[in-house]
Amino acid sequence: MIPMVDLKAQYVEIKDEIERGLAETIENCSFIMGPNVQAFEKEAAQYLGVNHAIGCASGTDALHLALRAEGIADGDEVITSAFTFIATAEAIKYVGATPVFVDIDDKTFNITAENIEKAITPKTKAVMPVHLFGQPVDIIKIKALCDKHNLKLIEDCAQSFGARVDGQQTGAIGHASGYSFFPSKNLGAFGDGGLVVTNSDETAKMLKMLRNHGSDVRYYHDVIGYNSRLDDMQAVVLRAKLKRIDQYNRARRHAAHLYSELMADLSLTTPFEDGVGEHVYHQYTLLSDRRDEVMQVLQDRQIGCAVYYPVPLHQQNVFKEACAGLSLPITESVAANCFSLPICPALTDETVKEIVMVIRGVLAA
Ligand SMILES: *Cc1c(COP(=O)(O)O)cnc(C)c1O
Repeated sequence: MIPMVDLKAQYVEIKDEIERGLAETIENCSFIMGPNVQAFEKEAAQYLGVNHAIGCASGTDALHLALRAEGIADGDEVITSAFTFIATAEAIKYVGATPVFVDIDDKTFNITAENIEKAITPKTKAVMPVHLFGQPVDIIKIKALCDKHNLKLIEDCAQSFGARVDGQQTGAIGHASGYSFFPSKNLGAFGDGGLVVTNSDETAKMLKMLRNHGSDVRYYHDVIGYNSRLDDMQAVVLRAKLKRIDQYNRARRHAAHLYSELMADLSLTTPFEDGVGEHVYHQYTLLSDRRDEVMQVLQDRQIGCAVYYPVPLHQQNVFKEACAGLSLPITESVAANCFSLPICPALTDETVKEIVMVIRGVLAA
């Protein structure tokens, strides 16, 4: 059996370091807002090149807190992608705003400045692009557009930890950006966790209050906040993996490039790289009009494969009514033809070759 992600292999490599750290946290009973959370926040801010990094309970919370801290509220419109995980749009709904879905680029699968601009109305307050599958959006163009129209830029970096655009990290350019540490993400914890980053001192202050019951000084509450803290045990794991994130992402890129090279002659669309943004391959996602046939054979051979995402958000039951009449042709066609193959830092060249052989057997037949 070849799984989509091999979390065990990654753990075994750093087992001693993690177990030492966890034992220390248990010994000190410093479970909530302990020293590892503070150290991780400092290390993550430094790595990402931002002034502030604030841990929280999940990636969904990170996006929610980012929107709230930036003042997005009832009646506002937030332009985003329909080709993403539901949490992107959930966070927008949590603050009372309306997600406005625009179509994606057929090569990057990300929303574009051109499509965003066409959707701007007097109610638009923010843009929330998603660096989907680890492929950075054209953040320079989108930032310029947001500045021109005085819109907040909130980046969904749940799938792009460590991806760079033009030398800068994804998440470093927006007013506030959210990351997820769900175990299978490029930087994954041993449970749920998230991070919001910002360069603004004011936004950072609000984020710290929001994640901790609206409180700056203990038992004094200035706003209605949440219980959304990152716990110390997760911070131990994240600190160990953060040290190695570039190595992990390099291994993902190596495996992805090998897949693409070995499948170059097949009638498939392999992932696009524009040379500006550095794709970190949270997923290795292909397009094929024979997707179902290929996936069936992979499944028969016990090779992991999956469709991210089969139903775009504007067609989900929860948004269908609000989005009646909305047509996003590229999003819909990509969702109908995309599928993802196993990818993770531990994936070997031999396994990539084995998977490609199986796909070749279907498509070259
Ligand atoms: C995983 C993910 C989230 C949510 O993160 P959680 O930590 O699972 O709450 C949000 N957006 C995208 C694009 C994601 O992939």
